[in-house]
This record gives sequence, C-alpha cells and structure tokens, in this order.
Amino acid sequence: MKRQQETTCAYCGVGCGVQATVQDDAVIAVAGSPGHPANRGRLCVKGSALHETLDHSARLLHPEVGGQRVDWPQAIQAVAEGLQDTIRRHGPDSVAFYVSGQLLTEDYYVANKLMKGFIGSGNIDTNSRLCMSSAVSAYKRAFGTDTVPGNYEDLEQADLLILVGSNAAWTHPVLFQRMQAARQKHPDKRMVVIDPRRTATAGSADLHLPLRPGTDAVLFNGLLAWLAEHGHLDEDFLTRHTEGLTATLSMARRTAASVASVAEQCGLTLEQVETFFRWVAATPRTVTFYSMGINQSTSGVDKANAIINLHLATGRIGKPGAAPFSITGQPNAMGGREVGGLANQLAAHMEWDDPAAVERVARFWGASSMASGPGATATELFEHIEQGQIRAVWIMATNPVVSMPEADRVRRALQQCDLVIVSDCMAHTDTLDLAHIRLPATGWSEKDGTVTNSERRISRQRALVPAAGEARHDWWIMSQVAAAMGWGDRFQYRQPVDVFREHAQLTAYENEGQRDLDLGAWADITAAEYDALTPLQWPVNAQWPMGRPRFFADGQFHTPNGRARLIPIHPRTPQSSQDAQQPYRLNTGRLRDQWHTMTRTGIAARLTSHISEPRVSMHPDDAAREQLQDGDWVSIRGSGTSGADGKTASEFCARIDCTRDQRPGELFVPIHWTRQYASQAVASSLVPGHVDPISGQPELKHAVVSVSPW
Ligand code: SF4
Repeated sequence: MKRQQETTCAYCGVGCGVQATVQDDAVIAVAGSPGHPANRGRLCVKGSALHETLDHSARLLHPEVGGQRVDWPQAIQAVAEGLQDTIRRHGPDSVAFYVSGQLLTEDYYVANKLMKGFIGSGNIDTNSRLCMSSAVSAYKRAFGTDTVPGNYEDLEQADLLILVGSNAAWTHPVLFQRMQAARQKHPDKRMVVIDPRRTATAGSADLHLPLRPGTDAVLFNGLLAWLAEHGHLDEDFLTRHTEGLTATLSMARRTAASVASVAEQCGLTLEQVETFFRWVAATPRTVTFYSMGINQSTSGVDKANAIINLHLATGRIGKPGAAPFSITGQPNAMGGREVGGLANQLAAHMEWDDPAAVERVARFWGASSMASGPGATATELFEHIEQGQIRAVWIMATNPVVSMPEADRVRRALQQCDLVIVSDCMAHTDTLDLAHIRLPATGWSEKDGTVTNSERRISRQRALVPAAGEARHDWWIMSQVAAAMGWGDRFQYRQPVDVFREHAQLTAYENEGQRDLDLGAWADITAAEYDALTPLQWPVNAQWPMGRPRFFADGQFHTPNGRARLIPIHPRTPQSSQDAQQPYRLNTGRLRDQWHTMTRTGIAARLTSHISEPRVSMHPDDAAREQLQDGDWVSIRGSGTSGADGKTASEFCARIDCTRDQRPGELFVPIHWTRQYASQAVASSLVPGHVDPISGQPELKHAVVSVSPW
C-alpha cells in the first residue's frame, strides 16, 4: 500500500518541503512539496535523490563498545560511566559535545540542556561554527539579536540581487531557481555576483565582480562612502533608528576613499566598480545574499557587518525586496542557533553575559549544575583535546576528521583522547572509525522532529519508515544517558513533541516581548498539533500566530536603546600570505551534487556521476608556468601536518582542471572527498586553523599552498 507523507529535505539550509512516497516501509520516490513556502514544488538534484541514499547495508545498526556489539542498556551505561568518571577526575570542563547542523532541533535542545544545565560546562559546539557563526555575530553586533530580517520572497521581489561569496546555483539551488524565475519574468531585475571565481552563479549574473580574495569589506566600505558622497543615504532612517554613522563613514572614507582606490585594492576595473555603485544607488529594492565566502574568514564578522551597514544606511531592511540575508549551509544550523547549540550562546536567544538570563534558564531547567559561561568553540575544542584539557568527547552526526581545518591534527587529537563517543547513522566515517563507543542514530526518513531554514521557517521532518536495526533518535540516546547519570526526572521525554513543547516554553519563559525568538503559541502544543504542524517563520506567539515574515520595518531593534548599530570596519586581509615557497592561494568549497563528506550522497550513483573525482581548478597560465597540462596529477601542500608524529606536510593529490574561471595564482578544491574515497584528497587538511577573533569561525576559504607534479 502506497502512502504520501510531507517532510523536509536533509541537506541544505534552503529547507525544502519534500513529499515522500512510502511503500512497504521503504521510501520509493520523492518530489518537492507544492505547498511548502520554501520551494513550492521544486527540488534540486540532491533533494530529488534522497531516497537513493537510504541503503541499510551502509548503516551503523547496533551499539558497539570497544569494538564489541552490545545492547542499548550496556551502551548507555558505558557512556554515562565514561562521562561521570572523567568529570569526577578532571571536572566538568574535561568533557565536550561536538554536534551538528544535521541534528533536529529536539536533539540539539537535549544536548544543550544536558551539557550546560547538568554536566555544568559550556563545552558544546557545533559544526555550524564552520558555516555561519560569523553571520550570527554580525547580526548581534548590528541588531542586538541574531535575527534574520527577511524571507525568501524578498529574493523575488528585489530589483537588485547582490550575491556575495555564494555559488547559490550549486549550493542553494532551489533559491537560485527562484531568483532566476523572477528574473525571467521581470528582465529588468539585475543580479550582481561578487566572487573571485567565475562560478555557475557568476556565469548567469548581469555583472560579475571577480574581486581579489578577502577584499569584500573594501568594496562595501567604498560603496558606503560613494553613496554618502552622492546623497543616496536614508537620512531619516539613520537619524531615527541607528547609531554609529559618523565613525562608520569616516572609516569607510579612510579605507576606500575613491572608486579608483577600491578598484585597485579589489583587483577590479574602474568600470566594474562604478557600474556596481550606480546600480545600487538606483535600486531601493536590494537584497544582499551572502554565504560561506563571507563567513569562512578571519574577518567574516566584519565583512558581514560591512554588508549590513549598507542596508542600514540606505534603509533597505524589513521591507519587501530589501534585506541583508545570510544563507546557512546546513538544514538545521538555524535550529541550533535557537536552542543555544553554539558554545558562546546560552539558550533560546538568551546570552551568557546576562546573569539574570543564566539564572532564568537554570531555574527553568531545574539545573543541577549550571555552567557559568561560554565553552570551547570548534577549533578550541579540538585544541583542548590535543592539550589534554578535554578527556572525553561525544561527537554527533558530523565528521570533523574531514571537515575541520587542520584535519590531520584533529585526527591525531582524537587518537590520543581518553574517550571518544560517536553517534552516527552510517557504519563508517573517518571519525566513527576512531570511536571507543559507537551509537547508531536514526537518519533522514526515520528521524522525527523540526528544523529551521535560513528564513527562520520551522518545518517538520517526519519519520516515514521504521529505524534501521537498533538505531535510536539522538534526543532519546541523550535522555537515557542523562537518566543513567542521575538526572532522569529532568529528561522525561517520551516523544519528540515533549522536547519541542519544552523548547517552545523556554522561548516564552519570562519573555514579555524582550526577546525576538518566542514560540509561545506552541507552549502547550499537543502531539496531534505537532504532527500536523505547517511551516511557519518564528516568532509564533499571540502577536504573530501565523509567524512573522519580516523584522525591523518599524525601525525597532533589540539593542538596549532600540537603535541598530553601524559598525566601523577596517578591512583586513586573510591571515596567511603567499611567499616563494607557497605561492598559490587555495579556496575550498562545495560541488553541486555532493553534501559535506559524502557519507550519504556518495552512495547515490546518480549524484557521483556529475563529478566523480576531486579536481584542482587552476588557471591555464599557472599550469603553463608549472609545466602542467589539463588532467595532470598534482600534489598540493599547505601548512597542515600529517602522520603520527605530525611532522609530514599534509598533501592533497588530484588531477587539475585548467580553467579561466579561476583568477591566476588561485586554486579551488572541493571539500567532499574523505580518506575512504581518496586517501590524499582531504581539502581541509591543507587549511590552517586561523579563526575570526569574534565568531571563532575558521578561515576555510583561504590557505596558501605549493603545487608540484605528482
Ligand atoms: Fe534539499 Fe537544499 Fe536541494 Fe532544497 S535546495 S532540495 S533543501 S539540498
């Protein structure tokens, strides 16, 4: 008997609704949900192959302790005793959770509560740190809260789309399709793409600015100064609703004084810069859509604030077709932000630096041992493991041995860690293979809960089929461990709605309108209502029972004085610079048909047929200088080290694609391949662990490397 069920895609932050056809406990087909506001019936190639990745032979089916199959009570006891023993001997900060934007909000909520409220440490961070933590910090600096101002309809309503550091055609394909459809309908709409590479996205832009890597803030500072000089600022909005204009403008003028100076610093022509500035001046309905090319930088927060400055100074925020819009990479990076899944967040958009908020959250949870402040961020967390400060780590639904900068160093750190617990749905990942305790978690089509997409829209991801083997939901596994550690009365969840209801209650707890995130309308949600939940943009409360499409049209921000802050930005270049030994800049990123470390998308033959091996993109002039030809094998070496002793330089070996889409002197490699697929093609092993000083986000878009024939 066939049935159809609505759920949400497991991959990117677009958060497309999926209509799954299920027969005999198997998903046999998927299609885009016509009624889901994110995608309106569309799916990209990855989403349309979701059912082709559900191969039980690749799944972790039973718990294992020390390489031996055990039952769940034994596994739970081993985790609880391992954590308790570590805490007893070394204190609560000797344990850490490293979680994932692949978790559902319910999983994230329980992980955050267990670590911060009961273990008593702030040491929970997420792979979303690698994806959008700079965007979070920038929103908070400017608005006082981590608030996405607009929604996806703004992308269609804008007359000018500025895509910065985003290859949306490949990484957020359904949003790109929506933008393209709007442009086809209204050919006067324009798209500018700011990206050092000529990507598929840049190829369809009206104007492509292939700027020098790391100079985005110069361009936006120059734009701000030029708009001020030519009388294009919204003086009324600035006067009534913002602060910081004088200092911000003064810095912009100092660092990007003229079109000529901007062109020279960014490596662009005068005509390119002037055209961009004139188009922005002439187009009030402007959306700036930014992603990893902005965030994954040692000055990612500043770059994002330079973009937000533009929107505040021109009053282009909170109105149809006008917003600074950060697009997240992962399906539930936003849900993690909402429950406090980042080490420097508390919970429900409450902050560590507010003692009343810490006390409020502790009281709400009935916390036995409340953490007092932020914990280690992703790179710090693995450094603390390396240094022996963190002795036990629980990694959930992520593969840091491949995805973290200095990936080989992360591997060595885990190899020497006393206790590595990994929950995953797959039987083999590079990280799982290093675990002392392996816990089989449910995967897409079995998981049941909620996710939040890049426009703040909360959707249900539904269980369609029974769990594979003995796989269990992450929230259930953590609740069982909490009970075994003596806190069962505070983790009495029987089903995901119990967790979601508590999360909704915390968002509304003593809120009285001060906090933007408020799910008060769901504080008493029943199982039937949860099951039937339709996708809504938070807040969902008495004032906004059907969700809120936009923030800030009223000029009211969540800073203490209600004004948005323009931030003076002094542009900084990437931390590593080229020299004679390492003369190339390396950029890393995603391909169209793969997801992260390929643990799922690598299973689908249709997806691997698009690009079947990692390739190094290189300008033909560089290839000629190195005496290389298209298709030749090369070895790329960066500053990372590999080997047990950490003394051998990390190496990435692959064939080259000669392409004029690359700027001379710059290389691009994909992030997806792991040692399981290609033993010497782990891109992040070449990237140093430099991070943004405010957000802690690593500079994954920039390393300096050497190239030689292999
Ligand atoms: Fe899934 Fe993203 Fe593709 Fe939508 S655009 S189908 S969410 S991968």
